[in-house]
Amino acid sequence: MFLFENTLKQISNAARVMSADSDLIKILSCPQRKIEVNIPIKMEDGTLKIFQGFRVQHNNFLGPYKGGIRYHEQVDMDEVIALSAWMTLKCAVVGIPLGGGKGGIIVNPKLLSESELEKLTRKYIDLIAPVIGPETDVPAPDVNTNSKIMAWIADEYSKLAGKDAKGVVTGKPLEAGGSKGRDSATAQGGVYVLNKYANEIGLKPSETRVIIQGFGNAGGIVAKLLEDIGYNIVGVSDSQGGIFCDSGINTSELMQCKKGEGTVKGCTLRENITHLKDDAKCEVVTNEGILEKECDILVLAALENQITGKNADNIKAKIILELANGPVTPEADEILNKKGIVAIPDILANAGGVTVSYFEMLQNAGNNYWSSEDVAVKLKDTMTKAWEEVSANAKKYGCNLRVAAFVTAIERIQGKFLQQGKS
Ligand code: GLU
Repeated sequence: MFLFENTLKQISNAARVMSADSDLIKILSCPQRKIEVNIPIKMEDGTLKIFQGFRVQHNNFLGPYKGGIRYHEQVDMDEVIALSAWMTLKCAVVGIPLGGGKGGIIVNPKLLSESELEKLTRKYIDLIAPVIGPETDVPAPDVNTNSKIMAWIADEYSKLAGKDAKGVVTGKPLEAGGSKGRDSATAQGGVYVLNKYANEIGLKPSETRVIIQGFGNAGGIVAKLLEDIGYNIVGVSDSQGGIFCDSGINTSELMQCKKGEGTVKGCTLRENITHLKDDAKCEVVTNEGILEKECDILVLAALENQITGKNADNIKAKIILELANGPVTPEADEILNKKGIVAIPDILANAGGVTVSYFEMLQNAGNNYWSSEDVAVKLKDTMTKAWEEVSANAKKYGCNLRVAAFVTAIERIQGKFLQQGKS
């Protein structure tokens, strides 16, 4: 099953409940442009390696294409198309004037030296430069890419453009024109939305047990934010495995340990595990196994296709917060619905990242930089409005939050589409 089929199913589920324009649905069902590049790199051992890269521009009805670049061994064109379409819908759901795009390179960046990684990034940008730009298509970080890589992109593109064009990319370090609050934006946006839902249903953080799958950019930060509010984090995992402790984990200590050990699993093997509470009963679990453990909220902050038709029935959480893109398949969705499990969908839950990316674009264009407080207020405002619209649509159409989020997004794109003419 191809990942983009999941996206198409989600779009058609939404189109069925709303009065969707059938021409628009056809247009959203394929990307506007897809590019494949072959990037030759002279490695430090003297060999020449060719890396395959992609950039997909799904739709730009609402504004310039926008979306991250992923470095991963499992990247392929189909995945990048699906991720680019989710970006179109994500930007629309939070009401920012941007379209959707995504990029990727088939590579395990951990196997490259820093200078090989820099060469690969710069050459990839040289190859896609004709189709990106501050007003055309603006990349950002995604899985295994970070602010340092974004700084290389801004520099390389500016050299090619012959002028300062740092607005070509977001997620840059502050010193290179980044925005305050961008690092924590995905997690923070998810927490704002979760808080709204938690208030609606009267959830008490101190009595709520949370499991987090993924302990990287988004998962690591969400752990801290939730712990600060008073939630009890009982399980954490990364791609190598995880730990589940019935009485809770001190995730800041665990993060400290992971920085040294490299993995969560490495920390479960140590004698002096300071991140566990005294009387904790703990179990070492796999990255898949942790999904099925007892908890109230399951935060998915790793990769796509984590909850599928195969394991959905074993999920014990009552609420799922999707900080990753596409972590729950449409088949799983049906099972979760029947079980009464509420999924706060990716295109809403993780939209904080691209929202602060948009703020970064505004700051770069105006050459005027905002305080952390200003970013936080505007992010909270954007996420709160999006939550309210999605939740109102869920009631209006009698559907779950995922369908409602897609409806909200498609309605917004449709407004522009019908007004600008159909072809
Ligand atoms: N990669 C992030 C996402 O999937 C951020 C995209 C961006 O900031 O453009 O939403």
